Amino acid sequence: MSKYLYILDAGHGGTYPEGHKDAGEYVTAPSKRSPVFDGVIEGFERGFRYNEGEWNRKSLQHILEECESRGIDAIDLNEGTWKDIPLHTRCRKANKINVERRSIFISIHSNAAGNGRTFNNAKGNGVYIYLKSSKTTKVFAQCLAAHYIDKFEGITKWRGIKERNFAVLRETNCPAVLLETGFFTNAQEVQKMMTHSWITRLAEVVCDAIEDFEKSL
Ligand SMILES: [Zn+2]
Repeated sequence: MSKYLYILDAGHGGTYPEGHKDAGEYVTAPSKRSPVFDGVIEGFERGFRYNEGEWNRKSLQHILEECESRGIDAIDLNEGTWKDIPLHTRCRKANKINVERRSIFISIHSNAAGNGRTFNNAKGNGVYIYLKSSKTTKVFAQCLAAHYIDKFEGITKWRGIKERNFAVLRETNCPAVLLETGFFTNAQEVQKMMTHSWITRLAEVVCDAIEDFEKSL
């Protein structure tokens, strides 16, 4: 049993599931998907685009499984839904859980840059914390940074720990971080992001960081 419960939050909605009248349709804002691949990139179909909400869910699932195999207590805040849960609902749910058992909130995202219609060169991984975050949040973010740097060396850039006034960081009562792993607006990077190796690396970063953090307590 871990000292904290790790609340995993898949940022943004996914796609309507099989059987739904809008099956395959994307649920959240258009800014949360990549430009359309024009078919010249190997391995991708013409018209393909990366959906952040889907990737977040897949990553969350891998992190959950890795946590389970290491004896780290973790849950999916949104219980596998494909819906785009409002930010205040996410925070309220997390705060309720944190009353029962002390928790750490981890929001899982991938990043975007530019106008959303064309690919560009921005790349890398980053950890976001609130402007006035607690010492515990800072320690956990440092643990994540160390493992991001180590695991993604030679694969992508490390962009640092950044302080932001994001709702899920501000309105959660427990230590909270938001992870941006890769840029889906970078045609080269997004291809790596879809590989098993990238997603496995992310799960290892999170779980190695949790283990270091728990040892430091
Ligand atoms: Zn996002």
